[in-house]
Amino acid sequence: MERPRSEAAFRRASERIPGGVSSPVRAFRAVGGSPLFIARGQGAWIEDVDGNRYVDFVGSWGPLILGHAHPAVVRAVQEAAAAGTSFGAPTLAEVDLAERIAAAIPSVEQVRLVNSGTEATMTALRLARAATGRQRILKFRGCYHGHSDSLLVEAGSGALTLGVPSSPGVPAALAQETSVLEYNDLEGVRAYFRERGEETAAVIVEPVAGNMGVVEPVPGFLELLREESRRAGALLIFDEVITGFRLGWGGVQSQLGVEPDLTCLGKVIGGGLPLAAVAGPRALMEQLAPAGPVYQAGTLAGNPLAVAAGLATLRELERPGVYEHLARLGERWRNGLQEAARQAGVPLTVNGRGSMSTPFFTGEPVRDLEGARRASGARYAAFFHGMLERGFYLPPSPFEANFLSTVHDERLVDLALEAAGEVLRAIARDGRG
Ligand code: PLP
Repeated sequence: MERPRSEAAFRRASERIPGGVSSPVRAFRAVGGSPLFIARGQGAWIEDVDGNRYVDFVGSWGPLILGHAHPAVVRAVQEAAAAGTSFGAPTLAEVDLAERIAAAIPSVEQVRLVNSGTEATMTALRLARAATGRQRILKFRGCYHGHSDSLLVEAGSGALTLGVPSSPGVPAALAQETSVLEYNDLEGVRAYFRERGEETAAVIVEPVAGNMGVVEPVPGFLELLREESRRAGALLIFDEVITGFRLGWGGVQSQLGVEPDLTCLGKVIGGGLPLAAVAGPRALMEQLAPAGPVYQAGTLAGNPLAVAAGLATLRELERPGVYEHLARLGERWRNGLQEAARQAGVPLTVNGRGSMSTPFFTGEPVRDLEGARRASGARYAAFFHGMLERGFYLPPSPFEANFLSTVHDERLVDLALEAAGEVLRAIARDGRG
């Protein structure tokens, strides 16, 4: 497939935009090559500026659970835009959205709308620190919670030592207030709480991780976080920016049977427009300004276009059978990939849940970041490019989830599996897709 216009656009973009992109993972650095510039999307398909068409397995990294330009979402956004794009004053639609979210998630009574997942998690931490009068945050390697200072932190040497900045510009003093453990490390969690439970404001975790590729919690992991945080007087924050309304109606917390104190939402609840939320019980949420003293604000928070897109998306998701369709399709995709790899003789572990999946090029189970890193990045890159050449757009990084939408169907998944079989055989033969 020729992409001269995308390549020229990337050269032009790189002159005026750092790295040529507005968010790093778009730049294809993990898989090599030059990013596609997208001209349009419709349903399960995207088209690049060279006129090449691809079945989209990225879905804007999760928000587009209804696919591209869903008529109900487009109509809602058009109507909202025609009525005024922003007021900096309350609107009824925000109340509708907050009510819908609260009705869907039992641990939620109140909702503060913000513009991005980063803002949601940042606000949740501030709230937790204010509510507990403590500073320390516990997070897990491989989980991504946006790019605020307290969360751009990686483990120092030794599991119980203090965190260190994972980016220049993050103050070391702040990073030290964040501790980092391996995901699914039950012993590590017990040891941490013995040592530092009393000084901990909050534990933040993706209840199903999507940012090291998909990794599910092992039985007892989330329950242990719930038990230890409660005993220590710390808050438990579920970052459901990916999983919220993606894996089922409401949060995945309902399916997993563990209730957090605070929930962060994003992606799906904005239907492809910038919208996210922090949510929880009234007693905690009313500590936020103006009800309480914890400051948080936003000029465009609860933006009418974003709220309209979110409401339209949730309305579609409420239809019977939607999540069953997504789960069936996800199973078909994962089982098909696993079988294609077996036939090709390529070691592959396909993790996933519902409509989110990740193929890891390793024969070993993947249950934490160490496991994800043991998988072959070179093979993923070959797989990615092989699929791209055949018209299937997967995430340009091995540490990401691919996403299906309600407008993907069995036929598209089977076509992708046919292509994947070819690519995997080529990888087995000569290492290239
Ligand atoms: N939390 C999770 C689990 C995410 O996956 C992301 C983004 O991918 C974020 C938070 C940050 O959201 P945003 O990119 O909207 O700032």
